[in-house]
Amino acid sequence: MASILVIGETDDAGLTAPTLEMLGAATRLSGGLGGGVALALIGSGVGDAAAAAAAAGADTVYTADADSLDTYQTDSYLPVAQGIVEQDSPSVVLLAQSSIGRDLAPRLATRLGSAAIMDSLALEIEGGRVKATRSCYGGNARQVVTVQTDPQVITVRPKSQDPLEADAARTAEIIAVDVAEPTLRAQTTGKELAESDGIRLEDAEIVVSGGRGLGGPEAFGDLEQLAGVLSAAVGSSRAACDLGWYPPSQQVGLTGLVVSPTLYLAIAISGASQHMAGCGGSKNIVAINKDPDAPIFGFSRFGIVDDYKKVLPALESAFAAALE
Ligand SMILES: Cc1cc2nc3c(=O)[nH]c(=O)nc-3n(C[C@H](O)[C@H](O)[C@H](O)COP(=O)(O)OP(=O)(O)OC[C@H]3O[C@@H](n4cnc5c(N)ncnc54)[C@H](O)[C@@H]3O)c2cc1C
Repeated sequence: MASILVIGETDDAGLTAPTLEMLGAATRLSGGLGGGVALALIGSGVGDAAAAAAAAGADTVYTADADSLDTYQTDSYLPVAQGIVEQDSPSVVLLAQSSIGRDLAPRLATRLGSAAIMDSLALEIEGGRVKATRSCYGGNARQVVTVQTDPQVITVRPKSQDPLEADAARTAEIIAVDVAEPTLRAQTTGKELAESDGIRLEDAEIVVSGGRGLGGPEAFGDLEQLAGVLSAAVGSSRAACDLGWYPPSQQVGLTGLVVSPTLYLAIAISGASQHMAGCGGSKNIVAINKDPDAPIFGFSRFGIVDDYKKVLPALESAFAAALE
């Protein structure tokens, strides 16, 4: 029995970055709960990631490996996840705030007669329970919440936690879980991957984001150029997406993507609460805005008050020279 069970995810490269981050958080928290860290891997071919899981902090790895689990489906994953939680009896279950975690966590908590905290940014232990900090009111306030029942099911925002240094000398007990043939109420008839060049917005360490103040779609070409210099991804406010200046897939905010990069460069974005809900967790926000009273400056570590057309070329050549 572990004190914390992480329900992990894998991709072609093995364990996903949020899974490694959750294992880091679980290892740090488990001391305060007096137990170890377990990882559940549910999918097809997931057994290959077990060694990496041990190196990343797992003491026990449950593998539910079956062809029927190749694509995430609530009907197939939920009973498997529930079975692993019941077998392990952890006091805390962590999932990523990903498309899978968002769907699975509340359903799992309900099945287990408990409750879920979604999208935590910080976790600490107090009196044997996890205190989770999350953003609320569209990113304008933080709340600290606990679940009073066990297991405490919590989703964790990607990039909010640090992974451990991988230690190849670490070992874990591997437990293969039997998977029953699921009863599916929906069938996946095909998968279509969105074409995308460069770094995914959710994975980027640096995001260069533009808003309505750019004045037109051409300016996003300048942002892409700057992003190229910085190895960054380009995001957009909803206002700019609604105007058709940039694809809606790149929208950051309440109704778009949530990003937590090390650096979020907000260019000609006012800083509306709905936008900040998507980027407020960034480690450093730097804003360029010609209005000194723009709300974005209240969230920014550094700000430049000027026309972005003047600032952008100077910034790009300074970054290019610095990174040479
Ligand atoms: C239910 C709901 C959900 C929403 N979801 C989202 C969401 O997911 N994401 C999101 O972004 N918004 C969302 N919005 C919209 C949000 O409220 C704002 O309207 C939007 O974020 C504003 O975008 P903006 O900052 O680009 O534009 P504006 O608010 O128009 O700001 C433009 C800024 O550019 C500055 N500027 C102008 N010219 C220049 C220049 N030459 N150089 C430098 N600065 C300049 C201006 O001073 C201004 O601060 C949502 C709204 C609602 C009601």
